[in-house]
Amino acid sequence: MTPQRRVILDLLREKRWHPTAVELFRAVRRRLPRVSLGTVYRNLDLLSQAGKIGRVDPPEGPRRFDGFMERHTHARCVSCGNVEDLEYSGPGWTEVLRVVTGGSETTESGFRLTGHRIEFEGTCARCSLEERAGAG
Ligand SMILES: [Zn+2]
Ligand SMILES: [Zn+2]
Repeated sequence: MTPQRRVILDLLREKRWHPTAVELFRAVRRRLPRVSLGTVYRNLDLLSQAGKIGRVDPPEGPRRFDGFMERHTHARCVSCGNVEDLEYSGPGWTEVLRVVTGGSETTESGFRLTGHRIEFEGTCARCSLEERAGAG
């Protein structure tokens, strides 16, 4: 593994955050001042193709990256795009199938369901504060 790739992976795993490539680039540059944004993009692609990091693709705005690979749930801020991890203990897979198809893995149209993903959206703490300040 190249030193650049090592630093990128370490930074992503250091804390629970979901930086964009540019945010990560700023953090990498503090450790490797000569790194380029292109190198960061290329390594993020390679790491996600290798399944070592996760990706968050919001409906709009830049892609974000995730070093925490255990199954977990995201809450996305619709205002700034910030993504946080959520402790979620809602319905499991069996429960979802029971609600959606009555327990079968195949829907009426013949679509075979193999998994589900839940993403929450809302307003992060910082944006909520700004909203309140703006309203007052
Ligand atoms: Zn926000
Ligand atoms: Zn996450």
